[in-house]
Amino acid sequence: MGMDGWYRRAVLRAADREPVRRLLESRGMGWGVERFVAGHTLQEALEQVRRLQDQGLLVTLDLLGESVRERAQAEEVCRAILHMQDEIRRLGLQAHVSLKLSQLGLLIDEAVCAEQMEQIAGRAAALGQFVRIDMEDSSLTAPTLELFEHLLSRHGSGHIGVVIQSYLRRSYNDVDRLTKLGANLRIVKGAYREPPAIAYPDKRDVDAAYLRLVQLCLDRGTYVAAATHDSRLIREIIRRIHSSGITPDRFEFQMLYGIAGALQRQLAGEGYRVRIYTPYGEQWYPYFSRRIAERPANLWFVLKNLLRP
Ligand SMILES: Cc1cc2nc3c(=O)[nH]c(=O)nc-3n(C[C@H](O)[C@H](O)[C@H](O)COP(=O)(O)OP(=O)(O)OC[C@H]3O[C@@H](n4cnc5c(N)ncnc54)[C@H](O)[C@@H]3O)c2cc1C
Repeated sequence: MGMDGWYRRAVLRAADREPVRRLLESRGMGWGVERFVAGHTLQEALEQVRRLQDQGLLVTLDLLGESVRERAQAEEVCRAILHMQDEIRRLGLQAHVSLKLSQLGLLIDEAVCAEQMEQIAGRAAALGQFVRIDMEDSSLTAPTLELFEHLLSRHGSGHIGVVIQSYLRRSYNDVDRLTKLGANLRIVKGAYREPPAIAYPDKRDVDAAYLRLVQLCLDRGTYVAAATHDSRLIREIIRRIHSSGITPDRFEFQMLYGIAGALQRQLAGEGYRVRIYTPYGEQWYPYFSRRIAERPANLWFVLKNLLRP
């Protein structure tokens, strides 16, 4: 395992410790978290959507939250997402929704989750919107893809899509199967702590797999969202797209709110579709810790802010 893998695993393990979590959460959002999170409320996030849109960027909005253990809470999240879909429509924004199945009851009971997702995908279809199911840790890959395939068969690839992580050894087979069904996929490297038996420990293998998966989507002619800040991979994808004459309406780039802003605007200026994953809400801690785990410089950023009086 390279240094990158070692650092990421160490940070994710430390962030899981209760005292660390309590310390950081007790600080609230105002010490640097807002670099990665667009606000506490939908209202605040919608202001950021407008700001991004004015810069020529598209958005996918995410109500932060995961690992919900109570049915009532899953239903509350579902209502909040339905409201978000309505607000996007009412305000005429260039945005769609991203969500996690574990915030809609997947850890309680797959049927509970399926009920919430049917409402959300149904609303998306009625409003002409799209919903993206994020991918979580490997214990949820199979149930997530199973529910996704069910929703895809009911609502079609124009309204529902999912995420595939290139660090997982299984992903080539998943992309092979899903692209045959016409699925709209977001390809990411993967952000969780996984054992080497399941995920490539070496960054070079993850990057090589990333290009293979994007290429497979392009070859099959399905819509693909290449979600990465890795400028080397982005330039390689652009080179391949040009050499095979693929038009810009068949793919998009995606990046996270607060990361690589100059690259986001540059690609949009070159005429590519660029969509910004924009999270908001109170449950920022797990999302924030994954962002810290991605980059040692972000840990210094956190420590500096924590030590400031
Ligand atoms: C739109 C979007 C949606 C995502 N959805 C999921 C998902 O559903 N499931 C999942 O497991 N993962 C998801 N991820 C996270 C992804 O798996 C990676 O962890 C993350 O994108 C970092 O990898 P990278 O592709 O940017 O490449 P890296 O090789 O990690 O980074 C390349 C360069 O990008 C910059 N960079 C990367 N991360 C950061 C950071 N945190 N802060 C500052 N600069 C950074 C640095 O300059 C770095 O050198 C998503 C990522 C994006 C962009």
